[in-house]
Amino acid sequence: MATESPLSLQNLITTARDFFCLIPDHRTEKPEYSIEDSLLSALGMFFFQEPSMLQFQKELRENQGDDNLHTLFEVAKIPKTTQLRRIVDEVKPEFLFPVFDSYFKTLSQNKLLQRFQILNGRYLFVLDGTEYFVSNATEKPCERCLKRELKDEKIQYYHQIVQAALIKPSVSAVIPFAPEEVCVQDGSTKQDCEVNAAKRLIKRLHSSHPHMDIILNGDDIFSRVPMVECALENKFSFIFVAKDSSHIHLYEWLSGIRKLDNISKYEKKDPEGNLQRFEWCCDLPLRSDAKTMVNWFSYSLFDKKGKRKYYNTWVTNIIPTKENIEELANAGRAKWKIENETFNVLKNYGYHLEHNYGHGKKNLSFNFVLLNLLSFFLHQIQRLATPLFQLARAKARTGYNFFEKLRSAIDFFVWESWEQLLEWVFIKRKPCRGPP
Ligand SMILES: [Zn+2]
Repeated sequence: MATESPLSLQNLITTARDFFCLIPDHRTEKPEYSIEDSLLSALGMFFFQEPSMLQFQKELRENQGDDNLHTLFEVAKIPKTTQLRRIVDEVKPEFLFPVFDSYFKTLSQNKLLQRFQILNGRYLFVLDGTEYFVSNATEKPCERCLKRELKDEKIQYYHQIVQAALIKPSVSAVIPFAPEEVCVQDGSTKQDCEVNAAKRLIKRLHSSHPHMDIILNGDDIFSRVPMVECALENKFSFIFVAKDSSHIHLYEWLSGIRKLDNISKYEKKDPEGNLQRFEWCCDLPLRSDAKTMVNWFSYSLFDKKGKRKYYNTWVTNIIPTKENIEELANAGRAKWKIENETFNVLKNYGYHLEHNYGHGKKNLSFNFVLLNLLSFFLHQIQRLATPLFQLARAKARTGYNFFEKLRSAIDFFVWESWEQLLEWVFIKRKPCRGPP
């Protein structure tokens, strides 16, 4: 059934299945449902953004003798929802990470990562933290819940991740890296913070991609000495937002240099005729101890009346020049992309996670985030690599339309392959009476 391209959906799902089959099963009695079937069923739900998928596919199996979780996601036996939750809750999240790395490697081997290169062969990974789950007052916390006290002294439990994604300002696809959970660490009662989770993520990013020339991009909470040192220790470059309110010493230096008129400046009109101003300055101390030196740059955009529409400032270890400053500023400003494209998917979908699948006792909610991101990864690879998927997506016009049509098709009919499903729904479809 597998098609030739290593980037076909069928082959990527087989890869996920191969990794899921390696997960140790510690259940003592012979289980009714396997770990791989549970994870693949959940992946199918997220792929189609269809919370009722298990039920519809079970009905198809009863009536037609087969179902789409079997034909498209290689699920041998669809678990009951409660069983699925229990099984996925027990899986250590680390077992899902290699699937991300393997997809990344396949993209690389097929020369698709080159499209993401910026600044002389470097790759830009945007870091960001997000909350994906907040419990209501009556719910019990799980083992990995973070807690905080609200104004009325009530305790609120929540989950947060730090995410990294490979982006390029001019490429619409976004490649996710397996996120790091912000959580209470073993043996520690102190709550972990976003920066510590980001440090763990950076180490893992380096060990997954030791030969990649990576630039980390992040907001102002990352432009501090420990984070900058962590980036450099892992041989990464960085472009972090650095606001004047949080870098008083750095900006005192800068204002002295400005008085001497020693800040480099370059101006250029954008395609709409608005004026862009780039400024930069090298070798400034990030902190008063002057142990960590950084380069600073800014970007301003003025409309035709001369009113400033946008302004931001960054620190980096890359040396800004007149030749690269525009690309540096584009890379710095690229952060909105992960917020708009990646986290919207997660957050909107997080709503479903919370309400339809539950929170679990151990790893359930984080594993669901990982599977959700893995389905997002599958969509992104198809957008980059599969002409049939690209054509189908273009015909559907919107993402909502695309998935809405797919959901209708899989709820009623069993499809032998991804090609058959996409071709029939989006390309060859003609109005007809009853089933095809
Ligand atoms: Zn929890």
